[in-house]
Amino acid sequence: MRSILILILTPPLPKIPSSGCTTIDLQDGVLRLEALLGKMSYMLHLLQMACSVGKVQLKIAKQTRGKWASLGQPLECHNSFLPQKGRALHYRDCVLVSKTQVNHNTCLFRLQLRCGTVMHVPVGKHVYLKTRIQEAEVVKPYTPVDQSLVPADPLVPDQTHGSDLFLMVKVYPDGLFTPHLNTLKIGDHMLVSGPEGPFSLRPLRDVTHLYLLAAGTGFTPMARLIQLSLQDLGTIKKTKLLFFNRQEEDIMWRSEMDDLAAKDERFQVEYVLSEPRAGWTGRTGRVDQSVLRDVLGRPDGAKCYVCVCGPAAFTELTEE
Ligand SMILES: Cc1cc2nc3c(=O)[nH]c(=O)nc-3n(C[C@H](O)[C@H](O)[C@H](O)COP(=O)(O)OP(=O)(O)OC[C@H]3O[C@@H](n4cnc5c(N)ncnc54)[C@H](O)[C@@H]3O)c2cc1C
Repeated sequence: MRSILILILTPPLPKIPSSGCTTIDLQDGVLRLEALLGKMSYMLHLLQMACSVGKVQLKIAKQTRGKWASLGQPLECHNSFLPQKGRALHYRDCVLVSKTQVNHNTCLFRLQLRCGTVMHVPVGKHVYLKTRIQEAEVVKPYTPVDQSLVPADPLVPDQTHGSDLFLMVKVYPDGLFTPHLNTLKIGDHMLVSGPEGPFSLRPLRDVTHLYLLAAGTGFTPMARLIQLSLQDLGTIKKTKLLFFNRQEEDIMWRSEMDDLAAKDERFQVEYVLSEPRAGWTGRTGRVDQSVLRDVLGRPDGAKCYVCVCGPAAFTELTEE
């Protein structure tokens, strides 16, 4: 036998893509494979002989012919099956390959993982970025946005690099982390964790009307949910995004959302401004009962689902 194939099989969920995922890191001869299965995490962690990484399958090739006594030297937590919460976050290196201005205070950062890492972040989950700022370790969460909505960047030729992360980040001039992120140059390095977060796609099964209420950067998880609902969730007849911002210039990806709504009648978007300038004819104000009653229709026989994301004050008020 010249090679071993390890296949991680996760049970299929009818109609809904699995929110389970596998992250593979092969760096400096160490193989770390973590498969998230619901709330559990299975890990292979080996100092191995030689291997090459494919998309879902991992092929470990022998350097020399003959019988293998073992797969390699087991490392910490090898062959363990633990609740995901019980595992420390693992960070791997990534490189900033492009940075595009989205609006006056928000940029789209494209991070490329090193060759040897394969990571898919399921819809609704986030990753952590970690760095050292003035001798202190700083860690902040960010939710990748949908790659298919990202306008093509002529300076970065390979737009289809599957493992690239696109993070849409609002920069706070007085913030701790984002001013540092904003000063990174193309080619600079950053540490990124694997996918995290409790969001599950299971409740979306059989949903017919999906309502997405987002404020500010709470838009980021919605970007992928919108694409998923239009492309993969066959039962959904209508997806509506209600996007709250202070002023018109704060709205992220407005033309992308408007284009999508123009192309697909199942998708609608409405913007609500709390501090509109003169001339704004759309909705105004903050989230309250009257706007929600107005927007969240429940037609007969519909199964509706509402996702809310934004600053704590916004989500608390909306849930109320
Ligand atoms: C699950 C999750 C996903 C996220 N995804 C994204 C995303 O995709 N994109 C995105 O841009 N953000 C996202 N965020 C927010 C992000 O993690 C950071 O909080 C944000 O980038 C600010 O980081 P910062 O360190 O630069 O600013 P911070 O230092 O946190 O400061 C932010 C602002 O709050 C003010 N502030 C700080 N502390 C206080 C205080 N005690 N009292 C009053 N004001 C204070 C600061 O002056 C500044 O204006 C997400 C957050 C979570 C929890």
